[in-house]
Amino acid sequence: MAKVPGQLSPTVQAIYDAYEGGRSGFRPHLGASLIGRECERELWYSFRWCTIPDHNGRMLRLFETGQKEEERFIENLRSVGVEVHDHDEETGRQFGFTDFGGHFAGSIDGAALGIIEAPKTWHLLEFKTYNDRRFELLKKHGVEITSPEHHAQMVIYMDYMGFKRAFYLAVNKNSDELYAERIKADPTYAVLLKDKARRIITADRPQPRISEDPAWWKCKCCEHHVACHEGSPPEVNCRTCLHSTPVDGGWRCEKHGQVLSYQEQLRGCSDHLYIPYLLPGKVIDAGDDWVDYGFEDGMSIRNGRGGLSSRQIRARDAAA
Ligand code: SF4
Ligand code: SF4
Repeated sequence: MAKVPGQLSPTVQAIYDAYEGGRSGFRPHLGASLIGRECERELWYSFRWCTIPDHNGRMLRLFETGQKEEERFIENLRSVGVEVHDHDEETGRQFGFTDFGGHFAGSIDGAALGIIEAPKTWHLLEFKTYNDRRFELLKKHGVEITSPEHHAQMVIYMDYMGFKRAFYLAVNKNSDELYAERIKADPTYAVLLKDKARRIITADRPQPRISEDPAWWKCKCCEHHVACHEGSPPEVNCRTCLHSTPVDGGWRCEKHGQVLSYQEQLRGCSDHLYIPYLLPGKVIDAGDDWVDYGFEDGMSIRNGRGGLSSRQIRARDAAA
């Protein structure tokens, strides 16, 4: 059969579907790779699983390409005599750190000795792939200006893992050109980033918006745009429920008096009540298992016993 121009091959679609299968898309913790992001509200929404990340099969394959490139970076470094350690021999896992009861965490790409510019200094390794346009910016301005999130990520890793230097190695995906930069530890900035992580993890409500203009370009690109600027009820799971709290080593449900597994958090339960700041109305009354919200037009709604479940509120919003 002739192929219709622009139509996706069913085989390609099946490959994308295979990437998407079985993934919730939610990270269990606040990742060091995100902590340099400007908007704390965005980070809080992600930590609280408000929006399923829109990572389709093509995007997931692209992430995998980045991971596979890491193996090449390590081979390249070893081929010029650099000693590289990319995983813990005992556990077989990447080296990393956790803090704040396991809610802030990250894994490094490796540690290296023998970097030719400073052969006696241990370096933390961070590998990244770039498109052509951003690679030119990287060469011109360096990591801190071009990719502040990557810079913040390395500052945090160095601080937690005791490195004084990081070696950032990037590749231009279009030309295979390489770029390297040595990054200094910055304990003062690390303290600020850790304070930021603490604020996000311990906050019981979203932080202020970085912009009140929904049309601002960063807000338009943000995956939480509809929850943040349009007042759409977020996903229903334990992280968006007012009964849950991040505790040492996990999440605790105060309603049922238990610590929740990752799968239990994903599922939530029929006792879910939205964290009040996630719905657009004002709380006008509340009981043990219900919350009443009032709106400017005089309407009201009950979430919980005698009213609508969180899933019904979300479905009603979707149908509106
Ligand atoms: S939409 Fe804008 S203000 Fe809201 S979380 Fe995203 S970046 Fe922050
Ligand atoms: S009440 Fe249900 S949805 Fe809420 S935290 Fe407990 S188990 Fe999760």
